[in-house]
Amino acid sequence: MATAAPGVSLHPEVEAFLSSGPLAGVVGGKDVTGTSGETIPTRDPGTGEVLAEVHAFTADDVEAAVATANDAFRTSGWATMAPNDRGVHLHRFADILEKNKDVLAQLEALDCGKLLPHAAGDVGNLISTLRYFTDMAGHVQRRSALAVAGHEAWTIRSPWGACGFIFPWNFPLLLFGWGTSPALAAGNTVVVKPAEDTPLSTIYVAKLAREAGIPDGVINVVPGSGATAGAALTASRGIKRMSFTGSPEVGRLVGEVCGRNLVPVKLELGGKGAAVVFDDVDVEDAATKLVGAITFHSGQVCCDATRWIVHESIYDDFVSRAASKLQAIHVDYQLSNACGMGPVVSEKQRARVLGYLEKGVAGGAEAVVAGGPAAVPGHEGYFVKPALLAGSFDNVAAREEIFGPVAFVTKFQTEDEGIAIANNTDYGLANSVWTSDLGRAARVAESMIAGNSWINAHNLFPHGVPYGGVNKSGMGGGVNSIETLFDYWRSQSVVRPL
Ligand code: NAD
Repeated sequence: MATAAPGVSLHPEVEAFLSSGPLAGVVGGKDVTGTSGETIPTRDPGTGEVLAEVHAFTADDVEAAVATANDAFRTSGWATMAPNDRGVHLHRFADILEKNKDVLAQLEALDCGKLLPHAAGDVGNLISTLRYFTDMAGHVQRRSALAVAGHEAWTIRSPWGACGFIFPWNFPLLLFGWGTSPALAAGNTVVVKPAEDTPLSTIYVAKLAREAGIPDGVINVVPGSGATAGAALTASRGIKRMSFTGSPEVGRLVGEVCGRNLVPVKLELGGKGAAVVFDDVDVEDAATKLVGAITFHSGQVCCDATRWIVHESIYDDFVSRAASKLQAIHVDYQLSNACGMGPVVSEKQRARVLGYLEKGVAGGAEAVVAGGPAAVPGHEGYFVKPALLAGSFDNVAAREEIFGPVAFVTKFQTEDEGIAIANNTDYGLANSVWTSDLGRAARVAESMIAGNSWINAHNLFPHGVPYGGVNKSGMGGGVNSIETLFDYWRSQSVVRPL
């Protein structure tokens, strides 16, 4: 069912993969179809055309995959193999991902509506994350002697077993890397439920894992709907540790079920990030970078800077520069060379963005840049223009997560006021502070109530820095650092009286 938009030539591997459908999941190293025979279409957001039909797993199909992952944990040798040997497997997997990086990038760009360089960046991030955790796991001491009077005692760190992962549609490959790399490097097996809208790259990666010689059953992919496959994975008694990335609404459901089953769960949820911009910045530079952030992947980024809080003395200058930059963004098909911003992922997402614009203006916001639907000649995809609303943040479009290229700007006078406005939210994922006074930068960054604070930049994810949310943005710690690796080992003490 492969479709290429006019002027786009597909890699032969992408073409062959898309034409081989309906696409199956991967369980126990094999392509496995859903037993109901039902499929879910996945579309190119830039054309609206179906790229492929993908099998929708039933609850029983998911349970069988979890059983397979637990069998592989017990019998494949993955969990007990020396860390260095596991490292050899995972580096070989990373090598094969690298060899296929152009194919993966095109698949990701087609399925998610990402610009090709951005999709390529996600592939690079997946590979470097996998290598980062693989190397770290090889160097962490997993057995520690304890100095205890009258006893010989020590602790060990052991993998948990089958770990479940449910991912959203915005960064399938990058989040697959952030989520599963520490689990795999620690010796666990994984069962992954990709989003209905963007399952293709995850299935492809699981096939490459097989080619890399990762033992069968270590990496399993169960495509399907959230209500069926996602709910079944969450509720499975065979899952020893759960990780969910997505909306707070579904996160709450997943948290409730895991709580009932006493399964440890990590929730990485939505955001409504702020950027507090002081009067000592280079206004042109700050406006350029914040416009870059809100239009990156069409604003479908959980930690985006969606609320711009700008010092009153530079407010007019900042808003006028940001507005002209937003108006100059060239909305186009994601694989066209001139594209500055591609589509949003689906018709549902486009309606959500347009709905929030309407509600925001009805609630009193000034539409500095009106946004709205964008027409891209020759492409029937889900395009919207970037928008800038202004005024009081007591407005639905400033309070709730839109997940599109819509920024909301307001002004502040004092440092305390800027911090208070930034913290006046239910969310707590990521914020940034913009100032040339590094003392103030650190002070404000530390006063923001969120998992992550950035200084003079937005969207920073170097390996080694934990990333995660608090309040409505998440629970259970961050990802992307040594702490994440430790999450994927359970701790056990051993003691003998002397
Ligand atoms: P979503 O919550 O609708 O779906 C996420 C995943 O959950 C999908 O795979 C979906 O199929 C599955 N799901 C749906 N219902 C389920 C259920 N009842 N039980 C189990 N699983 C179910 O989110 P989305 O629309 O795909 O993604 C957007 C959201 O993700 C935004 O809120 C965004 O901020 C958030 N997000 C957060 C992070 C982070 O790191 N904090 C990263 C990316 C996206």
